[in-house]
Amino acid sequence: MEHLLSGVHQFQSQVFQRERDFFDKLVSGQSPSALFVTCSDSRVDPNLITQSGPGELFVLRNAGNIIPPYGASNGGESATIEYAVAALGVRDIVICGHSGCGAINALLHPEKARSMPLVTNWLNHAETTRRIVAENYSDSTGDDLLEIAVQEHVLVQIENIQTHPSVAVKLQRGELTLHAWVYHLETGGILAYSGDDRCFEPLNKIDHTAAAQRVIDNPMLRK
Ligand SMILES: [Zn+2]
Repeated sequence: MEHLLSGVHQFQSQVFQRERDFFDKLVSGQSPSALFVTCSDSRVDPNLITQSGPGELFVLRNAGNIIPPYGASNGGESATIEYAVAALGVRDIVICGHSGCGAINALLHPEKARSMPLVTNWLNHAETTRRIVAENYSDSTGDDLLEIAVQEHVLVQIENIQTHPSVAVKLQRGELTLHAWVYHLETGGILAYSGDDRCFEPLNKIDHTAAAQRVIDNPMLRK
């Protein structure tokens, strides 16, 4: 705790004073361009990996970057999504999983979470991911299986978030773009899902102007 307290002191006495004008502007309101959904894992820092600052990302974090389908949970996820989309008018939603995710590992190996009933209960919202992986990737094991599960899981959350009315409305109007990312702790690299190629590719090779409907098939958006 000591280093956190000294960090607070350093922020207040140095950083905040030095950037006073910037922080003054933030007082009047926020206008983040993106909702960034990721895992609570301490090694994943949305602002760091996107080199963004205060006011730029509206962040939703939980164990395993899970977005329950609309109506499936009374947690804060739905409210956070609705606020980001309807009130703040974010233009992009990034759902970012990560390599070595403990939550996804526990999803694949439920015995690891047996002593944590609340974690087990929360991971039930990721049953679709577990079943997709179990039934389609039985030949994979270890780290390979975990990477596959992390990727599939992000895509399932992309599907889930489209069940939220606020998101569906903006998608239909073409006012929102969804992005499926996986951050790699080992390299600092990010893979992003390409709707054109239907696979994850290095982020710098993705066409970021791709419309939301190309991220993943969405029957609501077919003309
Ligand atoms: Zn994680």
